[in-house]
Amino acid sequence: MNACDIIYKKRQGKPLTEEEIRFFVDGYAKGDIPDYQASALMMAICCRDMDDAETAVLTDAMAHSGMISDLSRFGDVSVDKHSTGGVGDKTTLVVAPTVACLGAKIAKMSGRGLGHTGGTVDKLESIPGYRSELDADAFLRQVEEIGVAVIGQSEMFTPADKKLYALRDVTATVDSIPLIASSIMSKKLASGARSIVLDVKVGIGAFMKDEKSARQLAYRMVEIGKRHGRNMAALMTNMDAPLGNTVGNSLEMIEAIEILQGKRKGPVYDVAIKLIGQMASFALKIPVAEAQKRAIRAIESGSAFSKMKEWITAQGGDGRYLEDTSLFPVARACETICASEDGFIAQIDAVKIGMACMSLGAGRFKKGDVIDHTAGITLAKTVGNPVCKGEPLGSLFTDRPERLDAAKKMAIQAFCITERPPEKKPLIYKIIR
Ligand code: URA
Repeated sequence: MNACDIIYKKRQGKPLTEEEIRFFVDGYAKGDIPDYQASALMMAICCRDMDDAETAVLTDAMAHSGMISDLSRFGDVSVDKHSTGGVGDKTTLVVAPTVACLGAKIAKMSGRGLGHTGGTVDKLESIPGYRSELDADAFLRQVEEIGVAVIGQSEMFTPADKKLYALRDVTATVDSIPLIASSIMSKKLASGARSIVLDVKVGIGAFMKDEKSARQLAYRMVEIGKRHGRNMAALMTNMDAPLGNTVGNSLEMIEAIEILQGKRKGPVYDVAIKLIGQMASFALKIPVAEAQKRAIRAIESGSAFSKMKEWITAQGGDGRYLEDTSLFPVARACETICASEDGFIAQIDAVKIGMACMSLGAGRFKKGDVIDHTAGITLAKTVGNPVCKGEPLGSLFTDRPERLDAAKKMAIQAFCITERPPEKKPLIYKIIR
């Protein structure tokens, strides 16, 4: 067996065998197969696709290229969630403590911000003291004791995916359904949870710009998980506009805290309740509607917020910030952007808002860039709202005032104002189970 024959076979559009896929992934992870051959295979997969069986094997090979978390001690109650990436998506901060409060166990490895999209770990680190690195024993002990722990992704997991993802990023081979599905699901399978709920974003701010491709990606990932014996569900949710009212690390943290304190509702709350409904129904073996009711009760009673405090303080975070969000530092510079005409908000382009936040300092242009936790944007309007000329659309925050002008231009361009109200798009397109 050799790499060139495998590339040629896929280039001809033929399905690869299990042996061929494992030979390639193992060889690439070990360094026996060079980048140029791996890039050629990635391109062939992009152009020729892979079927469900091939994608499941590719996923399994990548999952087993590193450590696999053993959550068997938690039996059937271990759950995980994954969002395919969005702007303003702080649902994990709401979901993780609430689902733990209902009796599920969530041992979550989360990412940092990537490009214009945010990352849960960066948001959590806006709380002074929060430790996003725990050793395996401490991580699992915390899940055992309080039901929830959230840490950054360890280098020991899915090294083949890390290498391939970096290669895809520079060879125009990111947006392929089998490659995205296997990349995401390899990490989820290696994380070890019995039940996995996916939030597949659809829209201008997402990898999947239209419903059809999002549905294909969602079905493919659900199928991979089921083939590996996991309980699977996927929500397809709107990512045309940022989710909720804030984008940026401490701003989003505060929004999530206020949701758990019962002070706010809106789209973040709505998506979180649906995700928790799916996760808790698998873990507790109860109907989804009952799981959702319990989630709402946990938030209304304050027990989900207490669980959040238990979790954050267990990981070293300063609990006073949760009790009193005015303790979060506020950026030195702030500027408000206003509507230039009367009308209705027809669109708030999530990518442009994400890019504006990045330039304010909320994200990284390259690996290792230091982020400003106070930087970001608060949105005063959502899609469909009427607006008058001169009315505030949102505010920009940064500790790097020299960046305000450029970010302001980008943020203003994100808003599209029309004479008539826009056609209403769903927040949740579909739930696949
Ligand atoms: N997120 C991932 O982890 N992998 C992809 O390929 C795309 C998004």
